[in-house]
Amino acid sequence: MIDKDNAAERVDFRQRLLAWFQQSQRPLPWRESYRPYEVWISEIMGQQTQMERVVHYFRRWIERFPDLVSVAQAPEQTILKAWEGLGYYSRARNIQRAARQLVEAGETEIPSDYEQLMALPGIGPYTAAAILSIAFNQPVPVRDANVERVFARLADIDCPLKQTATQKRLAAMAQTLLDPLRPRHYNQALMELGALVCVPKKPSCTLCPVHMHCRALKTDTVEFRPLPTGKQKKIEIVMACGILHHRGRFFIQQRLADDIWGGLWEFPGGRLEEGETPHQAAAREVVEETGWRVSQLLPFQTVVHHYTRYRVTLHGFI
Ligand code: SF4
Repeated sequence: MIDKDNAAERVDFRQRLLAWFQQSQRPLPWRESYRPYEVWISEIMGQQTQMERVVHYFRRWIERFPDLVSVAQAPEQTILKAWEGLGYYSRARNIQRAARQLVEAGETEIPSDYEQLMALPGIGPYTAAAILSIAFNQPVPVRDANVERVFARLADIDCPLKQTATQKRLAAMAQTLLDPLRPRHYNQALMELGALVCVPKKPSCTLCPVHMHCRALKTDTVEFRPLPTGKQKKIEIVMACGILHHRGRFFIQQRLADDIWGGLWEFPGGRLEEGETPHQAAAREVVEETGWRVSQLLPFQTVVHHYTRYRVTLHGFI
């Protein structure tokens, strides 16, 4: 563990980390120019999506929407279509709302000020810090799950990371270790170390550039850090929908704008009511939502989808 009062150790830690990053960083497209608009898009796309998948969608997005103005002027359906495959569509909507807000104010680029960034839809403390340091090279520490895992091992923290006291400790550690001269590369190096080397299961400690500073490695507690928190129970949702077709055409409907996932398209359907079978629920939902009588509903396919704390089982009838 790096002694916070030992400047030489901090310098050694940063130097080793940055030298490793220079050699091992992934060639991500927004790292070519660090254009603030591109860094912002990459950060929003990366929030719930793995980096390898983000690259494909990022390139496609930048080709289509190269700047704030192109995002602000596009119809919402075009934005949602371009986001297809990434999920969590509120992220795309927030990008457009933020772009419109900035363009209306006469801006052509994402702001370099924390308060101004925080005033934009979809930007919280983590994303603001990431944009400030990565796009503008400002000395602001960034802490994502990867960084917190690395810190928990470096300092051999034996308390759950979510605890308030631990969060304070992690914040202090992030501030102390931050390289004030090269925050852009330092922050990315730390996140990259967590993503590539100090991974959740079986970290590659023999390849780790900062292993000599790692207390968990010394005390042989790496596999127990970070301390696991009690897992939240999944919430089960069972739904049914009707895939209606008539003379070779299929019916889909658009969700109301102020609804959850507003503006997206779906088959008519909904949750099962108490005592209902999936078939009964599909038949009821179809009549309720379309007003049509359906001659026959046959089982088609059942799919299970997990997101955040939910496990959705959807029974499709055709
Ligand atoms: Fe993580 Fe292992 Fe490096 Fe420690 S030595 S920081 S546990 S990869």
